[in-house]
Amino acid sequence: MIIWGSRGITSTKAKGETHCPACAGTMPYQHKKVRRFFTLYFIPLIPLETVGEYVECQSCKGTFNMDILGYDPEEEQRAIQAEFHRGVMGVMVRMMLADGVIDDEEVQTVCRIYGDLTDTQIYAADVHEEVSKVREGNVDMDAFLAGIAGLINDHGKEMIVKAAYLIAAADGEFQEEEKDMLGQVAAALGMTSAHLKGVIDSINN
Ligand SMILES: [Zn+2]
Repeated sequence: MIIWGSRGITSTKAKGETHCPACAGTMPYQHKKVRRFFTLYFIPLIPLETVGEYVECQSCKGTFNMDILGYDPEEEQRAIQAEFHRGVMGVMVRMMLADGVIDDEEVQTVCRIYGDLTDTQIYAADVHEEVSKVREGNVDMDAFLAGIAGLINDHGKEMIVKAAYLIAAADGEFQEEEKDMLGQVAAALGMTSAHLKGVIDSINN
């Protein structure tokens, strides 16, 4: 009697270092591939199809989807920061446009507040560029803010609200439409009105 069948055999395709989500750090890994083999008398003879591939962390022995090999936490951090900066700029410009007029002084105020909050220097031209984008109407700020709300922490949200508030308050009066817009920004970021009030109170005290 001939005994034949098939079984999966795991082999190591590659080794290296990658960010392990479980260890939360850079760890050695092995790229494993599971392939089905045709067996004769329990001896694997003929390689058949690949059943699966995964990455195994050599520190915690956790197994992960191949995606983690392309994951760079620093790069992700930079991307989140860029989104945060965009949010700060976006709310300030929208707030500036709330009363319909833009003057040089306001633009300078945007540059200054942006610099204070993000530690990044911008110029009047950058602000005007954002103004054109908003005026062309192809920026859905609420959707954008809702999108980044899950990426940034409470401190980041408070900074965005603060940026919007400081622009609203810069011309001395906090108008009704500016107040509405501030509420809209906070709501898009998923902040409660009590949280918003707390942020404004802390700026004014
Ligand atoms: Zn690990």
